Amino acid sequence: MIKRTKIADLLQCTDYGQKVCVKGWVRTRRGSKSVNFIAINDGSTIKNVQVVADTEKFDPEILKAIGTGACLAVEGTLVESQGAGQSQEIQAEEIQVLGTCAPDYPMQKKGQSFEYMRRNAHMRLRTNTFGAVFRIRHHMAMAIHRYFHEHGFYYFHTPIITASDCEGAGQMFQVTTKNLYELKRDSQGKIDYTDDFFGKPTSLTVSGQLEGELGATALGAIYTFGPTFRAENSNTPRHLAEFWMIEPEVAFYDINDNMDLAEDFIKYCVKWALDNCADDLAFLNKMIDPSLLERLHFVLEHDFVRLTYTQGIEILEKAVAEGHPFEFPVYWGCDLASEHERYLVEQHFKRPVILTDYPKEIKAFYMKQNDDGRTVRAMDVLFPQIGEIIGGSEREADYDKLMTRIRELEIPMKDMWWYLDTRRFGTCPHSGFGLGFERLILFVTGMQNIRDVIPFPRTPGVADF
Ligand code: ATP
Ligand code: MN
Repeated sequence: MIKRTKIADLLQCTDYGQKVCVKGWVRTRRGSKSVNFIAINDGSTIKNVQVVADTEKFDPEILKAIGTGACLAVEGTLVESQGAGQSQEIQAEEIQVLGTCAPDYPMQKKGQSFEYMRRNAHMRLRTNTFGAVFRIRHHMAMAIHRYFHEHGFYYFHTPIITASDCEGAGQMFQVTTKNLYELKRDSQGKIDYTDDFFGKPTSLTVSGQLEGELGATALGAIYTFGPTFRAENSNTPRHLAEFWMIEPEVAFYDINDNMDLAEDFIKYCVKWALDNCADDLAFLNKMIDPSLLERLHFVLEHDFVRLTYTQGIEILEKAVAEGHPFEFPVYWGCDLASEHERYLVEQHFKRPVILTDYPKEIKAFYMKQNDDGRTVRAMDVLFPQIGEIIGGSEREADYDKLMTRIRELEIPMKDMWWYLDTRRFGTCPHSGFGLGFERLILFVTGMQNIRDVIPFPRTPGVADF
């Protein structure tokens, strides 16, 4: 057979009459006694190529093996299609069955539930929906790297295994090489880690921020983009135990610069999707969420609303007074639930919202303290359908204020001398935020559950594949 052409490239081609070869998986086969129409997909695009096979030209055994899911190599002539729905097709001359498909192929039937798809996540990648989602996921990763590269940020790799347990962003997964059934203990019966791999307790990171601050206060502007782990038992459509996070951190940025960055960055990513993923977005808009494209354009075209947490609470309290049924109570000092965030975005402002200046009690110790003594310079970006998509802040740059807060909260700062050194050796104002990559993908694809925008999700009780 001649050299293979990817279907995405083939469908751009109108050089009819030429010999071509495609390889891919059979989506459907239909036809009559004399002619078969085989739709093949190779993952390069959501579109299939139609292969026309005159049955008399082929061994009946081969034709029999061409069922949904089988893998084929086809050589033939590229011709202009007579049928509706495609402009080119391949008149087959040679067909090789690279792999037959067993009858229990789980993606046989259309219209299976997402729950069923998750149980078969190893094969769901071959469906239209998941193909679209994961091509878009790739493009979003490219957009993120391009954005930061174009804006002078350095891609900075922070460790995945960490000995700091002070972040407080979530419950951590412990990392050990010890036999858990025969742990060394000290005289008080406490676990002695001196003979463990690192000689002390270590975990998987919940955020690269603290190390990111070291990067920013040396290189000026950095971003991380890597796996993040939280053992919180949150069985929600917006939480994973293993997710990917993007964390820019910038020296000399205050919270306003930080908000500008967040807004510009997200808009760039959304525009990138519209510019580069048109076919996949059109499919998702048709099959998954009919308001998807409208929502993406809407976010691009409107400024995000910026207001303080305190103003946000006033709006929510008013909504409660007017009878809006929230599940969780609203009061100054409460941590906003997703329903509150979505009310502000979807019902009140009908626009993405950036809330700032949260009560210090519900935010991390490193956030810059406001003069009011009650709030910190935090910012959360809230999105329609999602709720919180970004969490960030201006950081406390003052050593004494930072230490006071650490003592108040009794944060275990053992082994954190290196972080505090940023405030001792040439401290500077700086800011940053964390964007959950899968929450961005949720927004951009219109999918409803975060388990459906990462190839192999990890959630409480689920670590298959
Ligand atoms: P939430 O309140 O939604 O649980 P958080 O405030 O704990 O999030 P941050 O510590 O601010 O989250 O993390 C920064 C960003 O990382 C969040 O804005 C969100 O986009 C994402 N994120 C946080 N936790 C998860 C998770 N378990 N799964 C997927 N994404 C997450
Ligand atoms: Mn947050």
